[in-house]
Amino acid sequence: MTIKEYVAKQKQLLCIEVEGLQVKPSFVIIQVNDDPASDSYIRGKIKDAGEVGIEVKLDKLSPTISEEGLLKVVNKYNNDPKVHGLIVQMPLPKHISEDRVKLSVNPKKDIDGFHPLSHLNPCTPQGIIDYLESENIAIEGKSALVIGRSNIVGKPMAKLLLNKNATVTIVHSRTKKDDLLNLLARADIIVVAVGKKWFVSEEPLKESAVIIDVGINRVDGVLYGDVKPERNVALQTPVPGGVGLLTRLRLLKNLLEAYYEICNN
Ligand code: NAP
Repeated sequence: MTIKEYVAKQKQLLCIEVEGLQVKPSFVIIQVNDDPASDSYIRGKIKDAGEVGIEVKLDKLSPTISEEGLLKVVNKYNNDPKVHGLIVQMPLPKHISEDRVKLSVNPKKDIDGFHPLSHLNPCTPQGIIDYLESENIAIEGKSALVIGRSNIVGKPMAKLLLNKNATVTIVHSRTKKDDLLNLLARADIIVVAVGKKWFVSEEPLKESAVIIDVGINRVDGVLYGDVKPERNVALQTPVPGGVGLLTRLRLLKNLLEAYYEICNN
């Protein structure tokens, strides 16, 4: 199944699930920037939520708000029993500590999975695992290569693959080119989260490899992945229409998990 088909089917199931709930699941997005990319991500989240019957409120604050002012708003939603999920859209203005704000979100409502005490995983890596499993792609015992070590993608991706018993290697900007080439040629599952157009282009790969392209690179108004399209491999996720959709789907699933946790306790 293509990612588009998979996501559409999963959304139908979520819709049926939400329809059966007496109290509607709801989440809040706090935005403290005028960033067009954030506007577009938020539009996507609001659209997805609407499609499955989840309520969402956007609380757009002035970028001049103080850190204390923002923390007060976060706390208001932390303590509102009608709110089951809370997202503070990044980036934040420079005078506000992202770490402090991320840690201020009630871990039970942290549907981004950023809080160290959150029982939910970050949406991009968990969405990727969900899809691999739905496609019956074996992870256990496979050689997995994760390119990139960010806190929201690379590191949690490596951890989730490890938890599924893959043999995981992480590479980063200080990895030697030869090492990267050797690892690419041997890997069964390759997750590329670098943020550079076609970072993986003509390097030799196994024909049986599965490539997950996380990158979103806008060049002259066109979106490109981190991997050159149409490599000769068993599966390669497209950009656009790939991991972005999986991430958005997982956010809805994280919200429902938070909802059940909150409503059942
Ligand atoms: P990030 O925080 O900038 O991290 C990029 C990582 O790539 C860093 O760990 C960096 O290594 C590594 N890197 C840079 N140059 C490299 C090189 N030459 N060789 C090997 N590794 C190299 O980015 P991110 O937040 O993880 O995002 C990565 C990409 O995924 C971006 O395009 C972003 O827009 C996209 N993204 C997409 C989704 C989605 O839903 N589709 C979600 C999140 C992110 P160092 O640590 O050594 O600097």
